[in-house]
Amino acid sequence: MTDTRALLHDAVDRAGDFIDSLGTRGVQATATYPEMVAAFAEPVPTHGRDAQAVLKDLATMAEPGLVAMGSGRYFGFVVGGSVPAAAAADVLVTGWDQNTGLTFGTPATAAIEHVAGDWIKELLHLPASATVGFVTGGLMANFTGLAAARHRVFADVGWDVEADGLHGAPALRLICGRERHATIDMAARYLGLGSRHMIEVATDEQSRIVLDDLRAALEGGAGPTVVCLAAGNVNTGAFDPLAEAIDLAHEYGAWVHVDGAFGLWAAAAPNRQYLTAGLERADSWATDGHKWLNVPYDCGIAIVAHEQAHRQPLGAKAAYLIREGGDPDPFELVPEFSRRARGVPVYAALASLGRDGVADLIERCCTYAADFGTSLNAVDGISVLNDVVLNQVLVRFSDSDEVTNEVAAAVLAEGVAYMTPTVWKGHAALRISVTNWRTNASDVAAAVDSIVRCYSSALRNRS
Ligand SMILES: *Cc1c(COP(=O)(O)O)cnc(C)c1O
Repeated sequence: MTDTRALLHDAVDRAGDFIDSLGTRGVQATATYPEMVAAFAEPVPTHGRDAQAVLKDLATMAEPGLVAMGSGRYFGFVVGGSVPAAAAADVLVTGWDQNTGLTFGTPATAAIEHVAGDWIKELLHLPASATVGFVTGGLMANFTGLAAARHRVFADVGWDVEADGLHGAPALRLICGRERHATIDMAARYLGLGSRHMIEVATDEQSRIVLDDLRAALEGGAGPTVVCLAAGNVNTGAFDPLAEAIDLAHEYGAWVHVDGAFGLWAAAAPNRQYLTAGLERADSWATDGHKWLNVPYDCGIAIVAHEQAHRQPLGAKAAYLIREGGDPDPFELVPEFSRRARGVPVYAALASLGRDGVADLIERCCTYAADFGTSLNAVDGISVLNDVVLNQVLVRFSDSDEVTNEVAAAVLAEGVAYMTPTVWKGHAALRISVTNWRTNASDVAAAVDSIVRCYSSALRNRS
């Protein structure tokens, strides 16, 4: 074997050991960040060491600081695992090492990504003519959608924002729900739109935008306008009333961008598709591969209904760029120039799951989320705050911020299940996100037991 092959074997074995341990290891790391820094910190080595030894040290030293994010008992933030085909394809991508920017430069990976993009549009019932870019995550997918939006609404009033920037530009109105994801603000910042200038629309008791408020916001001004909607609020999993909101925004000539980092996948599950009615009429969509589709980090997906608006702000003209076939070059659809072929694991995930498998993955997670809700609601003193329409569950204990935060900390410390605290509508809550393909009924039961145990002991500590 060549050195590289032997090393890759070693790396795959070590990665496999970690993956095999997911079912039994505690979900929480046993070492803290400062302890990990202390373990790794040393002056730059003057002389290199044997690669095999480097790999061995890396794996053994990192071990106590690794979190079992791929475990079926990991319900923190909104984090998926990796379906086997996607994890393995990611290794291939590393071996191939194709800088996937040009159809001419990397025909195989560019084509695989193109097909993966077509499959995603079909599964999510989005227009076949839309263009798809594989970005690092939801943030960059939102950035891409809003960059396309910015291009189009300025072009409509005769402003060339790519050439002239925002110097002396007409004001752009960015209208968003009050409970939008923080990455919308970040994307607005990167695009020079300024988070302070956003027009906020009120949200209801499930965090959905209020249509009357959206109408008032649209009526309250004129000029280039972009409306941002949510397909899956990060706390409640609730969907904005997409069909009505999209049509309303279009009446006023606005571009509609939908942030569906995880929620967009509801469109691929027959029993949840009702949540996404009207989705296909939007102008751009952002979603993640590395959340609910369960492909490895990092992978976001930006989809735009208008090819020119997608390519114009992101592409470049350079003499050495040769276009092949009629399709855009991958680099024209993302904010990166050089990048790994992160769409290949998406292809592998979709090929291995199939339409049925994707639907089943989404349905299963939603069913487990509902089970969490039912089991926890049945316990005295525990209340589920949201309508569990998707995969997100918000739980509060003794209707108290203090008790809720204490339970959240105790669950993490116990290490059976990983879930994160949040603040929703001004109240502390424990957020449970069921997003992993591995999660099964016994994972849910173990997590519920852990939560109830930690709540009981919090009550005992108080009496
Ligand atoms: C996670 C998330 C994002 C950001 O996605 P990243 O992949 O973390 O960049 C944006 N919007 C929503 C609703 C999310 O849940």
